[in-house]
Amino acid sequence: MSEITFLGTAGGRMVVTSQLRKSGGMWLELDGKNILLDPGPGCLMRSVELGFRPGKLDCIVLSHKHIDHSNDINIMIEAMSGGSFRPRGVLVVPKDALEGNDPVVLKYVRSYIRNNIKVLGPAFKWSLDGVQIETAATMTHADVEAYGLKFIFSGRTVGYITDTKYFAGLPGAFKGCDCLIINMVRITHDARFEHLIPEDVIKVLKVAKPKVAVLNHFGMQVVKAGPDAIAQRIEAATGVRTIAASDGMRFNLDEGKAVIEPMINEFP
Ligand SMILES: [Zn+2]
Repeated sequence: MSEITFLGTAGGRMVVTSQLRKSGGMWLELDGKNILLDPGPGCLMRSVELGFRPGKLDCIVLSHKHIDHSNDINIMIEAMSGGSFRPRGVLVVPKDALEGNDPVVLKYVRSYIRNNIKVLGPAFKWSLDGVQIETAATMTHADVEAYGLKFIFSGRTVGYITDTKYFAGLPGAFKGCDCLIINMVRITHDARFEHLIPEDVIKVLKVAKPKVAVLNHFGMQVVKAGPDAIAQRIEAATGVRTIAASDGMRFNLDEGKAVIEPMINEFP
């Protein structure tokens, strides 16, 4: 069974800090591998609340180091390694998350995974026991390194367009996805922030043509306008099936079906 669980769908500072929507990133179960993507604020709490066992994680992936994506990365490394007593797991992060100004991965927790760290870059490609993780495009997002990603397993592809400004090569870089997750933070462009708006998403989907698009990471403008209504508008404009993620939503990649009921807490 392969499935994506949206631990939280908040994007933008006001929605994250007010927790109007929950935050914490995504838990990917792909061909039996457990991969955590962008462990933002609340990731540990949401994972446990939704019945996941962080000690079962195989890999933690960070698209970029902004706090709404990386806040819980250190505690999730600790959790992945059984509180450091069972060193295991791999970390995949951009170089600027490890060095330079404001490295977000604490040095002492790196030993918990025996420094098993893969450094993301423009041409990154690596296989986690058969689940290939690769950079699809280098994003344009503020002053940090940010990468759009593809996860390829059993002939299927999940794409992830993280926070970015629209650019010409974006749609083509994400062709061939079965499921394409798109961070759509805003409704209108604002020169201060580099984020996608619905019109950008329409341009992406007309070229990329995934089997299904899942919108995620909603800022205040999107929350107020209603993510479901925007998803419908995008679907009508592109002919691409488009879903707005909700907190705790699971998307089953085998059946192409979203389950939006919150999961029962199954923590043992
Ligand atoms: Zn963000």
